[in-house]
Amino acid sequence: MVIKNIITAVKNIYFGPPVTRMCPEEPTKLSDRFRGLQVLDKTKCIGCGICANTCPNNCIKIVRARINPDSNKQRWFPSIDIGHCLFCGLCISQCPKDALESSKVYLTGVIRWNHEDLLFTPDMLAREVDINAEEEAGEEVSRWTPQ
Ligand code: SF4
Ligand code: SF4
Repeated sequence: MVIKNIITAVKNIYFGPPVTRMCPEEPTKLSDRFRGLQVLDKTKCIGCGICANTCPNNCIKIVRARINPDSNKQRWFPSIDIGHCLFCGLCISQCPKDALESSKVYLTGVIRWNHEDLLFTPDMLAREVDINAEEEAGEEVSRWTPQ
């Protein structure tokens, strides 16, 4: 039995398929139901705050933000503290306007050193800024003003 196990182990080491992979260089295969970083459609959001009231971790705040990058007009939108988010999807399922959805993005936002960099503003949620760019994200975060 012991010999058989050793032979199997040696076979797997030298001839078996690799069971580990380099992440993030080699992306993880995600299921259809995977819930990554949220995306906000500002044109659908009415700023009702149901998502904020639904969040079990209290990580959504409704803040004022530009209605789009080309306008100075502001309305109320959710901002999400990704650092406290469970990715449970309740904010998405309870939104009456389907303004929030899950993306397959799961690495961006996690590779940040400071918690404040994980506070996703409406502009970041709407992908009006490059959320991969540390510098831009920092500038956006500085505009994150809880009401
Ligand atoms: S995302 Fe949906 S639930 Fe949240 S404020 Fe906008 S419309 Fe309301
Ligand atoms: S997905 Fe995150 S932000 Fe949305 S309700 Fe769950 S914990 Fe809150």
